[in-house]
Amino acid sequence: SAAEAGLYTASDQIVLLSQRNVRSALVNSSAAMVVEFYASWCGHCVAFSPYYKKLARDIKEWKPAVNVAAIDCAEEGNNKVCSYDYEVRGYPTIKFFPAYSEADSTGRPYRDLRNLRHRIIDSLEAHKEPWPPACPPLEPISQAELDVFFETNNVQHLALIFEDVNSYVGREVTLDLLQFDNIAVRRVLKSDHSLVTKLGVTEFPSCYLHQPGGNFTRLRVNFEARAFYSYALQRLPGVVRSGNPPMVLTQIHTNSTEEPWRPFNRSRVYMADLESALHYSLRVEVAAFDVLEKDTLKALNKYVSVLAKYFPGRPMVMNLLKSLNSWLKNQTDNQISYEAFKQVLDNTAQVPHTALPEGVRWVGCQGSQPHFRRYPCGVWTLFHVLTVQANATGGSDHLEVLNAMRNYIRHFFGCRDCAEHFENMAREDLASVDSLQSAMTWLWFRHNRVNNRIAGALSEDPLFPKIQWPSPEMCPSCHTVSESGEHKWKKEQVLSFLLSYFSSSSILTDYLE
Ligand code: FAD
Repeated sequence: SAAEAGLYTASDQIVLLSQRNVRSALVNSSAAMVVEFYASWCGHCVAFSPYYKKLARDIKEWKPAVNVAAIDCAEEGNNKVCSYDYEVRGYPTIKFFPAYSEADSTGRPYRDLRNLRHRIIDSLEAHKEPWPPACPPLEPISQAELDVFFETNNVQHLALIFEDVNSYVGREVTLDLLQFDNIAVRRVLKSDHSLVTKLGVTEFPSCYLHQPGGNFTRLRVNFEARAFYSYALQRLPGVVRSGNPPMVLTQIHTNSTEEPWRPFNRSRVYMADLESALHYSLRVEVAAFDVLEKDTLKALNKYVSVLAKYFPGRPMVMNLLKSLNSWLKNQTDNQISYEAFKQVLDNTAQVPHTALPEGVRWVGCQGSQPHFRRYPCGVWTLFHVLTVQANATGGSDHLEVLNAMRNYIRHFFGCRDCAEHFENMAREDLASVDSLQSAMTWLWFRHNRVNNRIAGALSEDPLFPKIQWPSPEMCPSCHTVSESGEHKWKKEQVLSFLLSYFSSSSILTDYLE
């Protein structure tokens, strides 16, 4: 479509505007809007686009209060709208449209594109009435307000962020939590001596939890920074994403899945999930093709070939993958029928003993409901394991596994939206992968990109919220903060974490009969 020809795609957390929808998006919106007017041919815009995408991902939790959009003014038809209706003279121009803007509003341009996230907070704070209804109060809390807080607000937790007047952390965390129930966040200024001395606060920023009844406890985090506060607060007991019922494990055991719930270790990889993913991909997804030829045959060949090389399976499964692989390699016709493939797949009478267990048994990929997790979880896990195994065995082609994955997803993966998004990411920078190690980190980083994009979506299992993985609890040393307080991954530590987490020796084989 026209919008996709521009610098952004539907998977960027950016509302794609055109002359057809720009008015309905900007006029009378209950959220404020930040809009980039750009031209796809403009070098500055191209250079700026990664920052804008990053901003949109970074503040996606703020959407109900302030949403991020873009319009390609180089598109025919959009051009007039940009220059006449919105008075855009140069590219890129970024404008803030307050909530409930009127039809003749042309927005307020940002003169300085550095620190846009903070500039957006400034715009929200300066917002006149009517205030965007989803936007929580951003001003510091006063002692008087605090005294009656739980009488006037129906929440279980109040988080207080003590900080310097110039710090944005408190307001950022307030906005990061706006889509979560049972919690409110307010900032307290360092200069508010009465509150600061009352609680004996000596570190700025620092975060304290206030419960009804008057208790104050310090929130323990690895770093006193936005990402760590938001992560910890979103996971407090009772805090749930708005619209999700609070869930407890006992509800699941009893009646919501056909299979009994198996307790499992959330920080381990299970062979049962890997074998279930193989079963489902080879017996269900590939079976959607009666005949495999050209691209689908190539994709199947590559997939089975990396499985035969790198799947860290039990001997009988490995025997099967190897015989499947050599059978495929020996086919000289330019097409094969799925029936013929299936005969090799299901022929367990061979010597040595070969078999792929029938059916699925999800363990680490169990969902709290039948429509959550399971196969897609198994697919991710499988390919992470394969990139790590390829690295461990020193495979010769560093793109072998990722190319096999890309082709598998493109041709066979049942979730077509997922396939399209994944293909977009692969097209963007798969070519930058230049070693077996960067193949592992590419997949890790891209998986996190997907997690970010779909956090809070209907497909999210409320018991397994999408996080930037691994969490600070799973790998404390993987996380740090930059001088400006931004969350930063320690890539070396993440790499060693991936190596050990997905290594063949840490895969658990219990739950296999
Ligand atoms: P998953 O995201 O499936 O992850 C499985 C396990 O991997 C987690 O439990 C965790 O242990 C581990 N893990 C999590 N993050 C990482 C990481 N960054 N690096 C390494 N390991 C990690 N769903 C959509 O709604 N829209 C999409 O566009 C979409 N695209 C997809 C593309 C692909 C290629 C695949 C395989 C799936 C896609 N899905 C998409 C499905 C979605 O990503 C999840 O797989 C699904 O929602 C189940 O989520 P989950 O909680 O089981 O965790």
